Amino acid sequence: MNLTSSHPFWSVNNGLPANYPSLQRNVSCDAVVIGGGITGALVAVHLAEAGVKTLVLDRRDIGTGSTSASTGLLQYEIDVPLRELIKKVGPVAATRSYQLCRGAIGKLEQLALRLKIDCGFERKPSLFMARTQRETPEFREEFQLRRKMGIEVEFYDAAAVRARFPFVRPAALFSKDGGQVDPHRLTHGLLAAGKRAGLEVCDRTKMTRLEETRRGVRITTHNGCEITARRVVIAAGFESKALLNAEAGTLKSTYAIISEPLPAISEWHQQCLIWESGTPYLYLRTTTEGRVIVGGEDEDFVNAKRRDALISQKARTLVKKFGRLFPNCPLEVAYAWAGTFGETKDGLAYIGVHPRFPHAYFALGYGGNGITFSVIAGEIIRDCFLSRTNRDAHLFRFGR
Ligand SMILES: Cc1cc2nc3c(=O)[nH]c(=O)nc-3n(C[C@H](O)[C@H](O)[C@H](O)COP(=O)(O)OP(=O)(O)OC[C@H]3O[C@@H](n4cnc5c(N)ncnc54)[C@H](O)[C@@H]3O)c2cc1C
Repeated sequence: MNLTSSHPFWSVNNGLPANYPSLQRNVSCDAVVIGGGITGALVAVHLAEAGVKTLVLDRRDIGTGSTSASTGLLQYEIDVPLRELIKKVGPVAATRSYQLCRGAIGKLEQLALRLKIDCGFERKPSLFMARTQRETPEFREEFQLRRKMGIEVEFYDAAAVRARFPFVRPAALFSKDGGQVDPHRLTHGLLAAGKRAGLEVCDRTKMTRLEETRRGVRITTHNGCEITARRVVIAAGFESKALLNAEAGTLKSTYAIISEPLPAISEWHQQCLIWESGTPYLYLRTTTEGRVIVGGEDEDFVNAKRRDALISQKARTLVKKFGRLFPNCPLEVAYAWAGTFGETKDGLAYIGVHPRFPHAYFALGYGGNGITFSVIAGEIIRDCFLSRTNRDAHLFRFGR
């Protein structure tokens, strides 16, 4: 699968922070993690720090799958609003899922600090805005539900939005908890830290066969090496579909641009994350270098040729939409790119064992806040591996 167009910003900007050998021998280990993106890196570091002998394999260079295309917004708010998630999974599971995503941002911050990873992590509030007046009652209900579960959120009416931004929206929710990161640097930093704890990392090594054995798994690579392990963790991102077909959600295409550095935009309240309800999706953030990232404009297909042919047109649309929000900030596009993106029926990730693969744990950080799910996956899979009880694992199980 072609996960991204050429030149997603992070991998161009960062180059190759580290290179790893491909696997050239047979290996026996406790856990083998398939995928060296942000999800695989988070799971691997949790396992390695727990003393589990772990090997990470990636068919590409590390961090150059979807992770290099991710715009790096860290949100507790999943693609499905709390009021809708309650209808889908019930109030207890919905509330707990939101709490876990909120907690994941703080855990990621602590991890980056503790492991001294320079990855542009910043705490940022987030503005979720309505497009139409008709949505105002839903925003009020969403506000009340979130407040009730202890989330620090304010309701902005049109006047409150106008007082803080150069645009107007009929309603918006301003949340304190959010963040942003360079996911590519974070991935490399996590793997470097994992290596210090005994992790082995091999890239440009593709898993071509996965066999369940009586006591674990046997994996064959494209160059004929064999890995035997107690467990495999499938953190292969949207390419996990090769094993799971439609069970893991639906794929689409999405677009993003990053600007040349701009002078600080004083009319952008706290340089918060901004995102809009409905379709076509629109979201924006700033970077530590003063650039602006604008993303969205999703399309319901995954054909890479068709997807990439639309990049220039989508970039123009994103610039136009940014201009409507910030008319005094002319934005020059430095890079524009596209990527494949996945959604699940309830907006929640799939994490854990699949009935067809009893010795495999899946870590599928799908959705607009896949990175926060990847943090949760790291903890759940580590706990499963160590036979510890994790009372949240059931929220993300297959077949829910
Ligand atoms: C444009 C865009 C914007 C996004 N913005 C955000 C955002 O703001 N916030 C957010 O949280 N999420 C965002 N996402 C989603 C984001 O992509 C995911 O959250 C995250 O990057 C997924 O990481 P991953 O490690 O699961 O997948 P990947 O980064 O794709 O890593 C999976 C790895 O598995 C490897 N692999 C696959 N098959 C095999 C095999 N057979 N053998 C060996 N290796 C294999 C691949 O090479 C790949 O490197 C965005 C996605 C896109 C496309």
